[in-house]
Amino acid sequence: MKDIVRLLPDSVANQIAAGEVVQRPASVVKELIENSVDAGATSIQIILKNFGKTLIQVIDNGKGMSPMDARMSFERHATSKIASADDLFNIHTLGFRGEALPSIASVAEVEMKSRREEDELGTLIRIVASELKEQEEIATSKGTNISVKNLFFNIPVRRKFLKSDTTELRNITNEFLRVALTYPDIAFSLSNNGTELYNLSKNNLRQRIVNIFGKNINSKLISIDSVTELITIKGFICHPQFAKKTYGEQYFFVNNRFMKHNFFHKAIMEAFSGLIAADAIPSYFLYFTVDPKMIDVNIHPTKTEIKFENERDFFQILLSVVKEALGKYNVMPSIDFDRDGDFGYVETSDNPNYSPKVDVNRNYTPFNYSTGISYRDSGFEHPKPDKVPANWESLFEGLTEKQESEQLVMPEMLASNSPFLQLRGKYIVTPVHSGLMFINQKRAHERILFEQYLKNLTDQKIGGQKCMFPETVELSPDDFSLVQELRDDLEFLGFELSEFGKSCFAIYSTPPNFSYSKAKDILVHLIDYYKTTEGNIRTEMKARLALSLAKAAAIPYGYVLDIKAMSEMVDDLFACQNHNFTEDGKAILYILKFEDINTWF
Ligand code: ADP
Ligand code: MG
Repeated sequence: MKDIVRLLPDSVANQIAAGEVVQRPASVVKELIENSVDAGATSIQIILKNFGKTLIQVIDNGKGMSPMDARMSFERHATSKIASADDLFNIHTLGFRGEALPSIASVAEVEMKSRREEDELGTLIRIVASELKEQEEIATSKGTNISVKNLFFNIPVRRKFLKSDTTELRNITNEFLRVALTYPDIAFSLSNNGTELYNLSKNNLRQRIVNIFGKNINSKLISIDSVTELITIKGFICHPQFAKKTYGEQYFFVNNRFMKHNFFHKAIMEAFSGLIAADAIPSYFLYFTVDPKMIDVNIHPTKTEIKFENERDFFQILLSVVKEALGKYNVMPSIDFDRDGDFGYVETSDNPNYSPKVDVNRNYTPFNYSTGISYRDSGFEHPKPDKVPANWESLFEGLTEKQESEQLVMPEMLASNSPFLQLRGKYIVTPVHSGLMFINQKRAHERILFEQYLKNLTDQKIGGQKCMFPETVELSPDDFSLVQELRDDLEFLGFELSEFGKSCFAIYSTPPNFSYSKAKDILVHLIDYYKTTEGNIRTEMKARLALSLAKAAAIPYGYVLDIKAMSEMVDDLFACQNHNFTEDGKAILYILKFEDINTWF
């Protein structure tokens, strides 16, 4: 019998490696930027076409490559960064495995121009699916200019499984920002289809953060600077009042590398506990420096989780460092943080003394606008009268006993003159056939609005509610382009927006029923919520938009409802397709059974 063990051809081996290293356009962006950083570039330009699917081009002014190095860089395990196993314990570069370029070149068409300072002419090299197509001398500027075209052109399944444009772009900007936040002394730019998304000049860290997240963040940053024997922690945390409900501005870096670390995240959450709402997440940008021996050096390049040796000690240090910084801030609320940039202008709402607490008017009911518009005249199409029975008994006539006994399946019979009671501005309580029903008013309203919004999104345009004063909202370039992309849908929902300056929108009207929230907050909430949920189908997006809007618009806890408003709300709730759970799966109502009450006595 013939021997059957063979070495895989390089092109196949590269494709297999690519499966790990190159998962999506964002992975290519990450690898290429890291190479530019390793090459000592002080300026890195990233140009995308079609969200990286057609082109990812990275231009740097780093040290460049000789023609021979340029050719070698596409060989597997070819790296200039380590020469022996010992070097593994002393790595100062981001890459060292020599896998990225050959992997990328096995699943795309790559063209690279590179020149070292000392060479008069540079080299051009073209590789398609691991095959060298040409290499020649050319005139080119110092540094490296690499274009990765038609990623996965030769692996249609991979191409097919790429996510929506927004999702791929978001992944790219995530990778981009992680590097940009690590190297404020390098200038970066990022553009897609000719639109500039980021243009970050060489700066200090505070200004880099401000350039990325908008000038509003400046006054919220509390600086951290702690040196202990074990670990150095520098960077910023954000003031608790500005903690968001969604993830997005949580950054840990260790030895100049972005990392995810749930355990350390918990330390921060603990330090903030009591200062922020239970479901809020503080923003932070923290840079650790530790002895490389304390962390697992042999980490996989695509992994962002990093293993530490003294995790518990670090946890304690981090906790106390953050607590101390927060404490310092609290006793000196008007302190001018070590401003290292020229940011004299501070908006009133960014004043550290500004309290975003909701000012609850205990007598206010959202169902009785002073304009005379009632809860049900809010511009939506209302359930047809025949769908809203005068009392619930008529609706459930003929129900089998089984159906009736299933808690949560069907609403219980409500007497036409059932009394309603509001408990601590949070629950509507009313007797039903089988006991006592508790309805969470905010969740109920969320469900009602969700179904209304969703219906309107698929039916007709919603008439917006004019803002008394147009509000402007400044967004990060990322969010700005997201809003541009969602604009049609937002306008469909009743938003009226116009671009106002570089990454700013003016809001002229909002969807109806929002009178107690700031237009700006609704939009920001919507973007945040949208960003943290995945998916790419348009209808899904509408459902999500409807849900985000419903969440933003639902009456907050603490609002006093009068009997009429409660009764209307309960009616509307039971006219919904699902009245038991909110769209994101939270229970809306609970029935305390008569039998259970009996057992008390
Ligand atoms: P690694 O970064 O792990 O060494 P890569 O496949 O990413 O492996 O790159 C291979 C080699 O090509 C690098 O070690 C480096 O010598 C060279 N190289 C890659 N990109 C650049 C660049 N932008 N400028 C200069 N040299 C580069
Ligand atoms: Mg590399």
